[in-house]
Amino acid sequence: MQTAWRPFFSYNLWNLFEPAIGQEQWHCSMKRGFLKARAKEPDISPLIQQETVFQQVGLLAQQGVYEFHRDESLLSCTDGVRQVADILELNSKSDEVRDRVTQILLNYHSKPILLGREILRLIRGDEGFPNPILMRSGNQEYKLFAAIDCIFVEPDGTLHILDFKTGKSDSDRRQAYVYLLAARYLYPNRPAVASFYNLESQMWSNRITASGVQLQVLETDIFQLVQQHQKDLHRYKRQSVPFQEVFPPHPGYQCRSCQFQSVCNFAI
Ligand code: SF4
Repeated sequence: MQTAWRPFFSYNLWNLFEPAIGQEQWHCSMKRGFLKARAKEPDISPLIQQETVFQQVGLLAQQGVYEFHRDESLLSCTDGVRQVADILELNSKSDEVRDRVTQILLNYHSKPILLGREILRLIRGDEGFPNPILMRSGNQEYKLFAAIDCIFVEPDGTLHILDFKTGKSDSDRRQAYVYLLAARYLYPNRPAVASFYNLESQMWSNRITASGVQLQVLETDIFQLVQQHQKDLHRYKRQSVPFQEVFPPHPGYQCRSCQFQSVCNFAI
C-alpha cells in the first residue's frame, strides 16, 4: 500500500537552511536549492552522486567501527586493523582516503571507546535512509529522519546517543538536539544524553541534554522550518520564481569546495 507523501526534516536540511554558529560566512542558501529543488536535473544529479573525500572518510570510519564491534575479537588481535582494512577494501581507495581511514582504524583499535558498553544500536552507515518518525503539529504531519550512528546504555540506564565525527568538522549542538528529539519518540520515558566523538582527533565532546520544554520548543521551530522549506520549493517549482531569488547565492571562499561550482553561475 502506498503511504501518503509528507514533508520531511533532518539535521542536514536544517544545516542547509541555517548555518551553525560561527559558520555564517561560509553558508550559501543556493546549495539547498541545488540539493532539494534541482536534484533530479541531468546536470545536477551526477554531482550529488559523487562522494567527496570528506563523505568517503566519514562513511568508511563508521563502517570500521561497526566491523570492530561485529567481531570484537578483532580489537584484541594484533592484525585486527589490517583485517578491517581488507573488509573495507581500503586498497582500492585514493591515497588520502586510505591513509586517513587507516589512521582512524589504528586510533580506534588502540582506544575502542565502545568496548564493554551495552550497545543498543550501531549502524554500518550504508543502510540507506533510516525509518522516519512521524511528527504531528495540529492537523499537519512531517517525517523526521535521524540517522543516529550509535546508542549505548549508561550504567544508570540513560541512553547515550553518540555521533562519530571525522576531520575538522565542528560538533553542532543542533544535531544533538534533533537526535534527542528522535530518541524521545523512539524510546519514550527513557532519559537520554548525546555527544560527539571525533575518530581522528580522539576527542569526546561534553554530554548534551535537553529538557522536555526545550524539545517542545524545538519541535515548534522545526515545524516552521519544514513549512518554510515547502514554501520555497513551491515558489521555485510552481510559481517559477527565479532560482537565485528563492535560494540566494553567497559566493566566496566556500565556492572552492562546493560540489555545484561547475554548474553555478555565481561561483567565484
Ligand atoms: S558555487 Fe558558490 S555561490 Fe554557487 S552554490 Fe556553491 S557556494 Fe553557493
